Amino acid sequence: MDTVQALDHTIHRADEAAHRFGVTPAEVADRLRDVHHLDEQGRSAYAAGTALGALVSIASAHEDDCGKDDCLTCAAIRDALAVNLAGLRTLRLEAAERRHWV
Ligand SMILES: [Zn+2]
Repeated sequence: MDTVQALDHTIHRADEAAHRFGVTPAEVADRLRDVHHLDEQGRSAYAAGTALGALVSIASAHEDDCGKDDCLTCAAIRDALAVNLAGLRTLRLEAAERRHWV
């Protein structure tokens, strides 16, 4: 699966979840305006930072409610935190390196 196919797959799953949670096309358009003026790195940082912030909120809420020893949601949260932290730290490193190149 190449990058475009992977993104299409993720977008499809996110579209389905957004529909179930009542996200409107106007809300998506509003967010598109938020990132339209950013460069590729800025858009990536915005998306990763926003996703990580939401993930931390979800993790905190779930932690308060979860008492299970073997929880699939906790496992998914742990995996998503690791992936998002790795991505965000990489973006931060690239931004710092780019600052010194210019
Ligand atoms: Zn749990």
